[in-house]
Amino acid sequence: MRIGHGYDVHQLTEGRKLILGGVDIPWEKGLLGHSDADVLTHAVMDALLGAAGLWDIGHAFPDTDPDYEGADSLVLLDRVMEMLCSKGLHVGNVDATILAQRPKLAPHIPQIRSNLAVHMSVDVDRVNVKATTEEGLGFTGAGQGMAAHAVCLLEED
Ligand code: MG
Repeated sequence: MRIGHGYDVHQLTEGRKLILGGVDIPWEKGLLGHSDADVLTHAVMDALLGAAGLWDIGHAFPDTDPDYEGADSLVLLDRVMEMLCSKGLHVGNVDATILAQRPKLAPHIPQIRSNLAVHMSVDVDRVNVKATTEEGLGFTGAGQGMAAHAVCLLEED
């Protein structure tokens, strides 16, 4: 088995959609980035790539490449899964945490888990997603951005 860790941060700004785990969450601000800025899916992809020894998403999908402008991160996750598949690896489980002061994410967690599970070809109980505030502290607490951590276990086919 192989273990991976991923971490990502995106700035919150007006005039952008808030996409987390492929779910379009109604909110006054969204995450800024070259792609759809889905901070959770980015952290998950970095965990998967890390576990597979495939460096990180910055190298897999360079933000200087116009192909990835506004990219749907779940489609990028499909590409990561193809890379894992070609190395004879599949997902054992993923556990992730979103750091966000607002909005309340609990109502969206089931759909987020379902989206990630479908794209990683695993049962939903193998994809756990949590959300926490940071008690008003730091850049997440101030609502300047969101961060996400993810760990994963990969298994050989
Ligand atoms: Mg990112």
